[in-house]
Amino acid sequence: MSVVRIEHVYKDYLLGEQKVQALKDITLSFEPGVFLAIAGPSGSGKTTLLNLIGCIDTPSSGKIYINDQDVSGRTPDQLADLRNRTIGFIFQTFNLLPVLSAAENVEYPLLQRSDVSRAERQKRVAYFLDIVGLTKYVHHRPNQLSGGQRQRVAIARALAIRPSIVLADEPTANLDHKTGEEILNLMKQINRSFKTTFIFSTHDKRVIAKADRLVRIDDGEIFALGVRSETKTWSLARNRRASDGAQPLPG
Ligand code: ADP
Ligand code: MG
Repeated sequence: MSVVRIEHVYKDYLLGEQKVQALKDITLSFEPGVFLAIAGPSGSGKTTLLNLIGCIDTPSSGKIYINDQDVSGRTPDQLADLRNRTIGFIFQTFNLLPVLSAAENVEYPLLQRSDVSRAERQKRVAYFLDIVGLTKYVHHRPNQLSGGQRQRVAIARALAIRPSIVLADEPTANLDHKTGEEILNLMKQINRSFKTTFIFSTHDKRVIAKADRLVRIDDGEIFALGVRSETKTWSLARNRRASDGAQPLPG
């Protein structure tokens, strides 16, 4: 069983007349519960890859499976429903709604879920704001919170739907080093206690060092897969081509 499986995925963008190949023949598979970094320089295809995994965008060709279900050919409504139940998102710029309090921001994605009662929503909001250490700040608006606190609200919001996957696109890029480290540590704690899969992108070496699994991407291609050993050193399978990259990274 894999939480995410990507098979021979290509993504092209049209920029005027010109075709930009953002992803080229990506084949990957991730086991549930991984804490995985997608690392690569700016423009390498990290956001494109996360958007495809998050079903925010669709591949030009190739297949994506979420929890072993093929997501191709689904309507935008079906994809939105899948996201609302399965995938939590964390962004570089936090993306909180400025007019809503911390509690209301966390509650927001649950309003799309008719199966979650008002009482259950309130329970989850309190629970996840407590997990991220913001119980005292439930009524604060984003502009009354620091960057690190805003990202904590975003983490609570991502968790509130009880996702099987949390996707975080450069979650520490707008934070100072110490705050970024605290956010990464919090994400890791949540990964360990709830067994939630975390897939995050970064170009920061210090953030890469926190991951247990590593996918290196450059110019739209995967050029290394890494697994961190007990001794905290990376063993990298370099230049592993898509054709032999379909095995799940060991758990
Ligand atoms: P990263 O997140 O690693 O910085 P992106 O996934 O944003 O990289 O971009 C990968 C490539 O695709 C880049 O060359 C970028 O310019 C291009 N690209 C991304 N989004 C679009 C778009 N909407 N239209 C055209 N080109 C795009
Ligand atoms: Mg990006």
